[in-house]
Amino acid sequence: MAAKIRKGDTVQVMRGKDRGKRGTVQQVFISNNRLMVEGLNMVVKHVKANPRLRQAGRVTSEMPLPIPNVRYVCSKCTKAVRVGFQLLDDGTKVRVCKHCGESVE
Ligand SMILES: [Zn+2]
Repeated sequence: MAAKIRKGDTVQVMRGKDRGKRGTVQQVFISNNRLMVEGLNMVVKHVKANPRLRQAGRVTSEMPLPIPNVRYVCSKCTKAVRVGFQLLDDGTKVRVCKHCGESVE
């Protein structure tokens, strides 16, 4: 199945503490259905001093979000939308915004 959300897409968080926030997808983890969004789902990790790590103490980092908790933000209508697929005459599959019907490739 083709991915509805890809690296570089803008998404909006629909659930959880960052609900309503938007960010750019940094990485998609297909295997566990999660993705990393720049600046979202930040957590503070307490890292013990360890000579192999550059930084010890409080370290903030992004945690992956479950893909079902985010929605694609359509660049045409700027809304958090559902994405569908459309098959072109030449056989290529493109993503389309279900709100405005525009291709979002
Ligand atoms: Zn749209």
